[in-house]
Amino acid sequence: MKKWMVLILMGATAASGVNNFFGIPILAEPKDDINAIIQNLIQGEYEKSGEHLRHLATTAPKLAKSIKLSDFTIPCADCAAEKDPDCEACNGRLKVIDSPALDYLQYKFDSAIEEGEKVEVAWRDAKKAFDIRKKQVPGRKVFQGTIIQIGQDAFVIKGVEGDIFNLMGCVTAGAQVGQPYVGYYWPMPKHPYTYTDGAGKSKTVKTYTLNLWWDY
Ligand SMILES: [Zn+2]
Repeated sequence: MKKWMVLILMGATAASGVNNFFGIPILAEPKDDINAIIQNLIQGEYEKSGEHLRHLATTAPKLAKSIKLSDFTIPCADCAAEKDPDCEACNGRLKVIDSPALDYLQYKFDSAIEEGEKVEVAWRDAKKAFDIRKKQVPGRKVFQGTIIQIGQDAFVIKGVEGDIFNLMGCVTAGAQVGQPYVGYYWPMPKHPYTYTDGAGKSKTVKTYTLNLWWDY
C-alpha cells in the first residue's frame, strides 16, 4: 500500500469519531453537547442529556456550570389556573418538558451559532428568549370567536362577547372569513394592533398569540 493511502485511511478512522463509554464523541464541541442535551430531552432520554452535560463540563466548565437540566422545563399550562395533583400533562409536577419550547430554544441557539456567535453568547441569548416565553406560559387562556380578517400568519378575531383582537402565530392557509375559531392564546401586551374595519375606521386592539414559541 502506498504511503499516502495509509495516511488517508488513518485520517478516515480518526474522523469517524471515537466515542466514550456513553457513546458521546470525545471530540464533541460544546455546541454539539448543547444540541444533544436538548435533543435527548425532547426524546425523553434524560440520562443521555445528563451525560452530555457532564461531557460539556470537561470542554467548557464555566458554561456547563451555568446549565441545569431543570432549566429546560416550562411550567405546566394546564396547572396554571388550578394545581391538579392528577394532571396528565405534568403528573402533578407542575413542570413539563415541552417539545415546541425546546425546538424553539434549539432554533435560537443554532441560528446564533450560524451567525458566528461564540457558544457562550449563543447560549445566553437563546436561553434569554426561551425564559421570556417560559414566564408567559401560565398566562394561557381560552378564546372563542370568529375570523373577521386574515393577515400574514395572523387573524383578526371577533370574540363571542363582541371584543375584537389580533391573533398572531396562526396558520392562515385555507382559513376563511366567518370561520369560527377556538383555542388557547397568550396576551402580547407590547404588540397593540391597529385594526381597520370594512368602513375604513381604525382602532387599536389587543394582540394575542396562538403560538408562544415563535419569533414576533
Ligand atoms: Zn399539570
